[in-house]
Amino acid sequence: MIRIAVANQKGGVGKTTSAINLATALAATGWRVLLIDFDPQGNASTGLGIHPPERTLSSYELLRGECSAADAAIATRVPRLDLIAATVDLSGAEIELIDAGDRTHRLDHALDAAPPARWDICIIDCPPSLGLLTVNALVAARLLLIPLQCEFFALEGLSQLLQTFERIRGRFNPGLSILGVALTMYDRRNRLSEQVAQDVRACLGGIVFETVIPRNVRLSEAPSHGVPALIYDHRCPGSEAYIALARELMIRLPKPAAAA
Ligand code: ADP
Ligand code: MG
Repeated sequence: MIRIAVANQKGGVGKTTSAINLATALAATGWRVLLIDFDPQGNASTGLGIHPPERTLSSYELLRGECSAADAAIATRVPRLDLIAATVDLSGAEIELIDAGDRTHRLDHALDAAPPARWDICIIDCPPSLGLLTVNALVAARLLLIPLQCEFFALEGLSQLLQTFERIRGRFNPGLSILGVALTMYDRRNRLSEQVAQDVRACLGGIVFETVIPRNVRLSEAPSHGVPALIYDHRCPGSEAYIALARELMIRLPKPAAAA
């Protein structure tokens, strides 16, 4: 199972929207996908129509070692897409695990113990911080996907994220690599968006995906209906962009693992 962490410590840059819609696009190609909501705000869970009463076993219990990934996984309305939901309890995990020697590896170990043939790919939707939850996701993942909003401060904070990435790679997870940077919320009527996209490409080069996710109101409406935009309106520009991004992403995946 390939594991991808979707991370950026900035909030509101499109992590959850990207995680949900890429997971859906990959499931549509026939892959069995596990999406882990690793943000105490639980936006990915809500966005997939899994409401708090249904989140009896969540990423919190998984992190505490109280259940397995298979136990916590909930089938969603999207065929082949399972979710491990998040609850507000997850916000306490950082403090609760402070003395645990394996606190950075909890998610990694839980995923190692998951049934090897059940899912082809796992996508971890990280919270907007570089704390223990994001560290767990980066230790557990093989690949990092970074959404960047096409705003003036897009690159601000990126160096901190890349520093964290390098530290985790050096200390815990030498196999971790960057899958790519996805530009989100691109507004073609706004010249600043174009300027930011150009600057980011000049600065980061080939790791930036060709596909750019446009600002599209359908993407922001879908979560309130509890379905991915790709199901809510699969022909809106946002959905089409996520399908294109998923294609690009699949090409970048390590080949032998893709078949595993
Ligand atoms: P994050 O997970 O990084 O905090 P979200 O994916 O939750 O970011 O996005 C923040 C807000 O912006 C949400 O309300 C979401 O619906 C909206 N949003 C995300 N991407 C787009 C987009 N491309 N166009 C319009 N709205 C978007
Ligand atoms: Mg989010």
